[in-house]
Amino acid sequence: MDFETKKPPKSSRLIILRDIKSLDGTKDNGENERHLKGLFHELQLALYARAWEIANPGDRVIGVGATQVGNQTQQYLEVDPEFSDMCSNMQVGIVGNDTHGHYRLPGDFKDETSNPFRAWMRERITTAMRVIESAQSGNIHPEPSNLCKYCPIIDACPSAKRGGW
Ligand code: SF4
Repeated sequence: MDFETKKPPKSSRLIILRDIKSLDGTKDNGENERHLKGLFHELQLALYARAWEIANPGDRVIGVGATQVGNQTQQYLEVDPEFSDMCSNMQVGIVGNDTHGHYRLPGDFKDETSNPFRAWMRERITTAMRVIESAQSGNIHPEPSNLCKYCPIIDACPSAKRGGW
């Protein structure tokens, strides 16, 4: 998973993953907030990216993002810095570099050769693993909401929101 920007592995295919997210039209202000939430608050995009690479050996995921479908359809992408220019030229979406200033591999500093997109992926997956380990050790913090009715463990959850309270 980890490699430096100047020493990338050979790849058989370059992959971009899009996660389609619908927006309530009245809340669609044309900004990339849903996309940024996927990058910085959620874990799915990084998990999808690494899962794809593991399931398809030789493939390298170079971009992920939310395609926001609201008043307009906006194809936001966060792209590996090695491919930013190429993706911009190919017009594969609205190319961003929001992870590039924030992530380095463990032990690296700002000006070292970490690939920040790969470092982002590592950090999100590390967080997912910590969540799993914490849940397995009994640390579970239910957050009841109107979405409980869709939850697969509602019958076993003492905190589930039921009815109209
Ligand atoms: S039923 Fe329990 S675990 Fe499921 S969403 Fe609601 S609070 Fe969370």
